[in-house]
Amino acid sequence: MPTRRPPLSYDVFVSPEKPFAAPLPRFGDTPAWDPTTSTLIFGAREAVLVDALMTMREATALANWVALHDRQLTTIYITHGHCDHWLGLPVLLDHFPHARVVATAGTIKQMHRGEQKNSFLARFLGQIADRTVQVEPLNVTSFELEWRLLQVIETGHTDTVDTTSLYVPDLGLIVSGDVVYNHCHMYVSATTAAIRAEWIGAIDKLAELHPAAVVTGHKDPTCGNPPSVLAESRGYLEYYGQLREATLPDRELFDAMVSRYPDWVGRQEFLILGLSRATG
Ligand SMILES: [Zn+2]
Repeated sequence: MPTRRPPLSYDVFVSPEKPFAAPLPRFGDTPAWDPTTSTLIFGAREAVLVDALMTMREATALANWVALHDRQLTTIYITHGHCDHWLGLPVLLDHFPHARVVATAGTIKQMHRGEQKNSFLARFLGQIADRTVQVEPLNVTSFELEWRLLQVIETGHTDTVDTTSLYVPDLGLIVSGDVVYNHCHMYVSATTAAIRAEWIGAIDKLAELHPAAVVTGHKDPTCGNPPSVLAESRGYLEYYGQLREATLPDRELFDAMVSRYPDWVGRQEFLILGLSRATG
């Protein structure tokens, strides 16, 4: 008799936008971090968590939310090396000491960048559990949750280097990390034309999977998880690229992005223009 495999489900935790210490911007919103997601994929008994948030408060809330699902958390997968997606790990492992943390070798390399971590510790002073955790390198492109494969998609240089997304074929679900954004201004300030082209290529690679849902690393909490976010993020990158090529003054570039995307969260100078340009 064939084994009956229970279907998988998923649920999304969104941590609200949070203020952080930074020089006052010349224009736009006061410094705040985009709402950030963590996704739980679960079967009848076990669960996998994608990304681990950042501050002790939000990681504690996330751990309590995971516990409500009453599944054994076997694995935490980290999509990319940016600190806002994994500095919450020590708190999560306090709650789920038997969960293993996995990531690609590229993600782990980025996680070890000390200067990145130090800048987050300064921005969120006293709010982060600064403890080292063991992250296992994934030497395969997929791993299992109750006999179902979860596939790692290498997406290269998007909002940072060595990024990935996670694809769950059984659910038609992509958990995109920061390859795609959902009604949040994108972190484009550090990009060049070549990087934006690579980023758009990564979005196209995800679109070829024809997902039914896309959970992005940053999202407006009032929005769902439709696959249309793929085309929206692509369009954002293209429009920003056109403005950058036109070498607009900072203020005009910023205002053009905000007027094109007036209801998107996070009208942050550092996302669109960068901290170095903001102070120079
Ligand atoms: Zn992020």
